[in-house]
This record gives sequence, structure tokens and C-alpha cells, in this order.
Amino acid sequence: VIDAKAEVPLRPIGVQELLPVLQELSGQIVAAAERQTARRGKGVSCRAGCGACCRQLVPISEPEARALALLVEAMPAERRAKVEQRFREAYGRLEAAGLLERLRDFKARVPAGERRAFAMEYFRAGVACPFLEEESCSIHPERPISCREYLVTSEAALCADPAPGRIEMVPLPAKASEVLYRFGDGEGRDAHHFLPLVTALEWTERHRGETAATLPGPKLLENFVRQLAG
Ligand code: SF4
Repeated sequence: VIDAKAEVPLRPIGVQELLPVLQELSGQIVAAAERQTARRGKGVSCRAGCGACCRQLVPISEPEARALALLVEAMPAERRAKVEQRFREAYGRLEAAGLLERLRDFKARVPAGERRAFAMEYFRAGVACPFLEEESCSIHPERPISCREYLVTSEAALCADPAPGRIEMVPLPAKASEVLYRFGDGEGRDAHHFLPLVTALEWTERHRGETAATLPGPKLLENFVRQLAG
């Protein structure tokens, strides 16, 4: 049982504005799962300075893509230029590996049954997340929910070769990330799917100007928690 409190605006808000609360909620679920794992005698092996998992195809929701783009836009000019350059370099490497077009329109171009194989292809391309600096996350407090949920108890070195069956994850009772992918406007309409983090800036640019649906904050959170619990 997770007993959590959250403050949300009473006024209508979009899912993007709810993200800090959802991140906190997912943090509490992850912390409970870690405690459960510790009771079984296992410890989390993830450490700052180990960025092996940050070379995976990291799934994010559309509101998270917009939030990441805003985060980059708000960075001091020099830092922003550096991060944007890393996004461009990642695209260059993914294009050279023949993966870019499928990534850009991931939902349409990579059928559900082929996604695991595609994710392995992506990992083999060895393209680091543009936010990875010195093998640590440079946006740690604002990282996407899927990054928060990815914790392993297997040897850290195995993450450098995440073949099926080799990695032991901390099992989570519920994944806020997966609810977020299909949450759409918060009332079950217009459900989306995830998109790869590396496409976040380009995706946001393409969808700039689209207005997000809103619901009163408490209602939006209630809908999310219902889906999470369900
Ligand atoms: S956002 Fe941070 S934690 Fe997530 S993949 Fe990128 S560097 Fe790693």
C-alpha cells in the first residue's frame, strides 16, 4: 500500500503540468519496490557514473517530450547549444546505423512484435542519451519516468550487454510510465503511445502550437491514479 499526498492546482491543467506530481508518485512506487527487493536480500546495483542503460531506446510520453524540449530551451545558451548538438550527433549516428526513419515515426513504423528486436538494434548502435554527461544523467531531477523505473539488481556490468534473460530488474507493482503512454488527454480520449527520447526535440518542434486538453487538476490526477491502480 502506498499512502501519498499531492498538491495539484484546482484549475484545468494539461498532463504536462501534472508531470512533477506523477514523477513523485512513481518515485514512491519505486522506493517501495526497492524496500521489498531489499527484504528479499537483494540490492540495487545502479550507481551514479554507470550510464550503460542510457544507451537504450528510452521510451517517453508525449507530455514528457514537450517538457524535455522546454527544459532544453530554458538552459543557458552555451549549455543549450551543447545539448542540442548532442541530439544532432545522436541523429547522425542513428541515421548511419539505418535506424533514424523508423525512430522518427516509431509507432507507425515499428510493429509491436518487432520492438524488442528493434530496441536491441538501437542498443548495439551505442548512441548515448544526449543528456548523459560523464556517464551520469545531467537532468537527474527532471529525467523521464521510464528512467526512474529502470533499476537492476544484477551485476552492473551486465547492463553493457542487455540480452534477454541476463538482466534482473527490480519488479514494480505498477508502472506510471506505461499509464502515461496511453493516458492521452486524461479521459481516455486521444491515447498516444511512447516515443523514443532521442526524438523529443524534433517531435515537439513538429507538434508545436497544438494545444493540450485540460481537466481540473484533481480530476486529472484521480483519472491517472485510477488507471495506475487498475
Ligand atoms: S534522461 Fe538521464 S537517466 Fe534517462 S537515459 Fe538520459 S541520461 Fe539516462
